Amino acid sequence: MASKKRKTEGRISKSEGSAKREGRSSRVGPRVSDLRSPTSVVTGAAGFLGSHLTDLLLERGHRVIGIDNFVTGSLENIDHLGGHPRFKFIQQDVTEFLFLHEPVHYVWHFASPASPVDYLQLPIQTLKVGSLGTHKALGLARHKRARFLLASTSEVYGDPLVHPQPEAYWGNVNSLGPRGCYDEAKRFAEALTIAYARQHALDARIVRIFNTYGPRMRLHDGRVVPAFISQALHNRPLTVFGDGSQTRSFCYCSDLIEGIYRLMMRDEVRLPNTENRRKAETRKEGSRISEFGIRNSDCSPGGCPVPVVNIGNPDETTILEFARQIIALTGCKSRIVFKPLPEDDPRQRQPDITRARKWLGWQPKVPLRQGLQRTLEYFRGRE
Ligand code: UDP
Repeated sequence: MASKKRKTEGRISKSEGSAKREGRSSRVGPRVSDLRSPTSVVTGAAGFLGSHLTDLLLERGHRVIGIDNFVTGSLENIDHLGGHPRFKFIQQDVTEFLFLHEPVHYVWHFASPASPVDYLQLPIQTLKVGSLGTHKALGLARHKRARFLLASTSEVYGDPLVHPQPEAYWGNVNSLGPRGCYDEAKRFAEALTIAYARQHALDARIVRIFNTYGPRMRLHDGRVVPAFISQALHNRPLTVFGDGSQTRSFCYCSDLIEGIYRLMMRDEVRLPNTENRRKAETRKEGSRISEFGIRNSDCSPGGCPVPVVNIGNPDETTILEFARQIIALTGCKSRIVFKPLPEDDPRQRQPDITRARKWLGWQPKVPLRQGLQRTLEYFRGRE
């Protein structure tokens, strides 16, 4: 891991000019069209997904203030941004008070250990960043009248009894099990985000991220993609947990970040056609359409003030099949060995992305083979 500095700051160009911000009638938050150079805060900016998000935001004209404490993030992931005129970095634990002088228009809360190995080793930090860290990030968004996006997870569905998983599914989580620290932290973070939207009219969105892979994953973070690639590159046996019949659906990082960007930037998410919308609007309170085109009854009987959207690739594969694909792709001489299945390892996982398709016009584009090739190149350079 990169060396730790107390405070590492880049610069923000004064010539960018201050972005204009306007409150919305029923919600607090910026109107995208009014912002020429919006400012985004990204917590977890030195992490795998946080750093890809930061790159995309800079590409699309944002000023970015990245925050990370390097517990699982790495300076290497943001090294290339040193000296970027619109990037500033603050080394801080987001469970501590976040103080920023400048206006902020978007808060993207990505900070958290996210691999099973990491959160098993760091259960208290994981719970703290999901609870106290989310509280601080929400407080910052509220104070700045910024729009807020929570990076949640498919883990809120636990070991799902519904397949594929739609957002309206409440999940099957063991709060007492080893994954409970992550699952419950994210479930709490979702509930807190919704409470801020209800009580403070905060303009918020929640993305539930399914298995994602790509460059900048840590080779030894324990997740299946870097684990298998690293084993294959050394011609070591690929360790399949259980009998390998459990399934996952892998999304390439650029696809995922594009979907998340759309969710945050969308001013209003509407039903596909106005006729459906009109009909739905005339129905009873329980199915009234919110500003985002959500049927309240989709989320909870009382209505959900926050759009919640799964982003992931529905292309599902068993872990055993995935191991065979990695062997074929790398041309390695590795064999497959079977190890005990970790406790509470979900048996199957596939996102239902109907909402993302309808509301955001989004679906993944990068085929698994192509995404794995790019990831392999990245890891080859680091072995
Ligand atoms: N897995 C495996 N071998 C490994 C690492 C993981 O068979 O060396 C399995 C793991 O048990 C799970 C799946 O791969 O069923 C995905 O694991 P990962 O840690 O990537 O993420 P999860 O989806 O469980 O959060």
